[in-house]
Amino acid sequence: MNVVVVGGGVIGAASAWSLTKRGHDVTLIEQFAPGHKNGASHGTSRIFRHAYADDYYVSLAARAYTLWRELENDTQSELLTLTGAVDHGSPDIVKPRVKALTRAGLASEVLEPLDAQKRWAGLAFDTTVLYHPDAGRLHADRSVAAFIEAAQALGARVEYGSPVRSISATEVSTDARTYSADHIVVAAGAWTHKVVSAHVDLPVLVTTQEQPAHFLPTVDADWPSFIHHPGAELRGEGIYGLAGEEGVKIGEHGTGPVVDPDTRNFTPESDGIERLKTYARAWLPGVDADSANPLTCLYTTTPDSNFIIDRRDNLTIAGGFSGHGFKFAPAVGELVADLVDGRIPETALFRLGSRTIS
Ligand SMILES: Cc1cc2nc3c(=O)[nH]c(=O)nc-3n(C[C@H](O)[C@H](O)[C@H](O)COP(=O)(O)OP(=O)(O)OC[C@H]3O[C@@H](n4cnc5c(N)ncnc54)[C@H](O)[C@@H]3O)c2cc1C
Repeated sequence: MNVVVVGGGVIGAASAWSLTKRGHDVTLIEQFAPGHKNGASHGTSRIFRHAYADDYYVSLAARAYTLWRELENDTQSELLTLTGAVDHGSPDIVKPRVKALTRAGLASEVLEPLDAQKRWAGLAFDTTVLYHPDAGRLHADRSVAAFIEAAQALGARVEYGSPVRSISATEVSTDARTYSADHIVVAAGAWTHKVVSAHVDLPVLVTTQEQPAHFLPTVDADWPSFIHHPGAELRGEGIYGLAGEEGVKIGEHGTGPVVDPDTRNFTPESDGIERLKTYARAWLPGVDADSANPLTCLYTTTPDSNFIIDRRDNLTIAGGFSGHGFKFAPAVGELVADLVDGRIPETALFRLGSRTIS
């Protein structure tokens, strides 16, 4: 089948890989240059983890893990580094994750705060800690490039610098030309609404400019990726973090200002940076809290933070990855290819259905 994929972020690139593996004739169209920093998939690090409360997400991460290793093998690139991951903070949020890992037969360990503190000198804890070893860090830029390389090796064509201006049932048009398509996959991140709203009623998708920051480490310690869930001592949406080649990155989850992806200013808000420094002083004894080096990136969030991966006629939409989609990308690519091939998804979590507003 002749499939046009709109969007060359991690989801479009992963979809192109899956579709070419199934033998489809794929053209991927991306509005910007390779490696651009205008969307959600750039940078050097994303957390990979299995620790979700919902069994389906745990199984999706497990499938993604297998496929990340396959992609590494196919492209001879190093994408996923295992560091382990910790969850701490509100027991009401952490306990269901322990249970879900156990149900899935995945290794996990529960530690008292003092024991965790001894093990990971860069972090501070005041609640029970969940550790699971099958987690770590994905290299974001290398991952997107690897999906593209692997798809191209199987025959995909990739057009950069080509904004899609319109889609119809069987055609995708850019300024330069019109592509005919048996099936169109839209993986346009924060631009999803702009690309498909004339064809499909979408749930409300909120695009925010998030602003994590890298901090310089001051201790020679093991750094698991971590999520500090909100609870008595920590308010808001919680903090995530991980160490990588640019230092220790921490960020608030989904607190940035609402923006239009075409007119945003890329300038981090100083209040947010101050909050991260305050957090680092209180909870990260292993970093220099004054060394914050911020960056910006887009979240596109659905009302329930579950993704949209669904099909209407010959249009498949993969969007609304709500700040946690990177780790699942190769498994999402498979779900997209399943939809294109006419298979019914085993989960209802990602349907447009009841979340649609008109
Ligand atoms: C700060 C931050 C930290 C994150 N941390 C994690 C993490 O630790 N773990 C994790 O799993 N996830 C994480 N995420 C989420 C993850 O990065 C995203 O869910 C994922 O990158 C979304 O990819 P995407 O392909 O949907 O969107 P994008 O990467 O934005 O890709 C969409 C692409 O479509 C292109 N496009 C749009 N419109 C058009 C058009 N008309 N024509 C042609 N091209 C078009 C865009 O240019 C863009 O390249 C994080 C996100 C952010 C912002």
